[in-house]
Amino acid sequence: MKNVDAISYVTLNGKAHIATMNLLKGITLYGEKLISRNGSEYRTWDPFRSKLAAAYINGLEFDFFNVKNILYLGASTGTTVSHLSDIIGYSGKVFAVESSTRVARELISNVSSKRTNVIPIIEDARKPRSYFSIYNKMDLVYCDIAQPDQTTIAIDNCKIYLKEGKPMLLVIKTRSIDVTMSPKNVISQEIKKLECHSFDIKQKIDLAPFDKDHAMIKAIFCPR
Ligand code: SAM
Repeated sequence: MKNVDAISYVTLNGKAHIATMNLLKGITLYGEKLISRNGSEYRTWDPFRSKLAAAYINGLEFDFFNVKNILYLGASTGTTVSHLSDIIGYSGKVFAVESSTRVARELISNVSSKRTNVIPIIEDARKPRSYFSIYNKMDLVYCDIAQPDQTTIAIDNCKIYLKEGKPMLLVIKTRSIDVTMSPKNVISQEIKKLECHSFDIKQKIDLAPFDKDHAMIKAIFCPR
């Protein structure tokens, strides 16, 4: 194990795995392994199941130290949401937006009913004003919704909910945007959209080999 932070590397059968300190001791979500170290329990974090884990392994520099509230767009069944819940602990909240009632059912029964720092919001992220119940501005907007207009959706949500000077992490699934254009050009096109809306691009991370033709963009919201 490298350190005792909420995100760490643990060794299992001689192999290093990225992991998060489990907020719910003894409870797993998707078949991840539990490893005890110095009184803490870690859950292995599968980079093939979570693009945030893939981004970390591929060099994402992100410090959750000052992150309390997170707006998460495209929560699905809550795999990555559960690891963010581990990372921020009970002093913060993950507001998890998911439009599909089918997957949201699993998000609620397996994640938010057990993790009190996860608030499910069953709404369309294209209508950010529909979840105005979020009481404070966010320290981070995370967007992974795999839609052709995903960048615009992320920008619209940041304009309403993200604090100035705070980061957004945007997953770009290039094939959801344009299958005819090269992935590299799609990513450049989406980055230009962000720059036109006052985002300062800090990192662009290719998520291969975990997710082909995907990138994660880390950008800071600096409205003029
Ligand atoms: N982020 C998830 C994870 O790492 O565990 C995986 C997300 S999956 C790639 C994309 C999710 O976005 C799907 O569950 C889909 O239903 C949801 N989604 C798509 N369009 C949406 C929208 N307009 N508003 C909210 N959620 C949406």
